Amino acid sequence: MARTAIKAGAIEKWFGEGEAKTLALRGVSLETYFGEMVYIVGPSGSGKTTLLSVISGILRPNRGAVEVEGTDIWNLSSDGLAEFRRNKIGFVFQDYHLFPRLTTAENVAVPLILRKTEWGKAIRQAYEYLDHVGLKNRAELPPMKLSGGEQQRVAIARAIISQPDILIMDEPTASLDGDTGRSIVGFVHRELLNENRCIIVVTHDDRIYEFASRILHMEDGRLTGAENIGARPEPALAGNAGAVAVGPRS
Ligand code: ADP
Ligand code: MG
Repeated sequence: MARTAIKAGAIEKWFGEGEAKTLALRGVSLETYFGEMVYIVGPSGSGKTTLLSVISGILRPNRGAVEVEGTDIWNLSSDGLAEFRRNKIGFVFQDYHLFPRLTTAENVAVPLILRKTEWGKAIRQAYEYLDHVGLKNRAELPPMKLSGGEQQRVAIARAIISQPDILIMDEPTASLDGDTGRSIVGFVHRELLNENRCIIVVTHDDRIYEFASRILHMEDGRLTGAENIGARPEPALAGNAGAVAVGPRS
């Protein structure tokens, strides 16, 4: 039986108060396993980014709990939570979040520096990862000199350089053309996915569906259904995957 990576139970998240209150997550339960690449698809505004933020320790839910490898992350101290994010999670933000005052190579090296890798070694590895995403010749430039698609590839290189147990990517191909998107996501899949890692991808891009182990659908703050399409980490999983993936309806 595959090990559980993330288990989220009855997550609710809202923004604002009174008239202005927006219910972004209306009771989402989700379980993901090591060895799989799970996609979450759904219309704009359905809560996908909010869900990714809640399961990765970025945004505290109003209700519900998130366990990552058995640790209840929203009960950690703020130091504990920061350490959890630093050591376990790679995150590709929808709007990249690159540091404007660092060079492209320094941006990619940040996760290694935070894990106390020696500077020169971290920068050398950053060059290697930039090479993998076709951007070695941009290494010394500030990210603002790069196109949107190039910045997106830098964000992906930064998220995978530390080989995180859990990689979360929010619309990682939105600024890439079809061939580049497929080749970058294919690279991430080959480079990272094994029985000790779990990758979660939010996307609208059906050109990268071929890499998915499982696709979950989200609508109006709820998970509404799942389909198994790709290779499973273990056959035993196929029987319960649909059941655990579907959020409660009210
Ligand atoms: P998606 O990623 O699927 O497009 P989001 O998770 O970004 O959806 O947003 C879900 C809902 O929550 C939307 O109605 C959005 O406007 C609202 N929302 C998201 N973030 C905030 C915020 N920081 N403040 C107020 N409303 C927000
Ligand atoms: Mg979003």
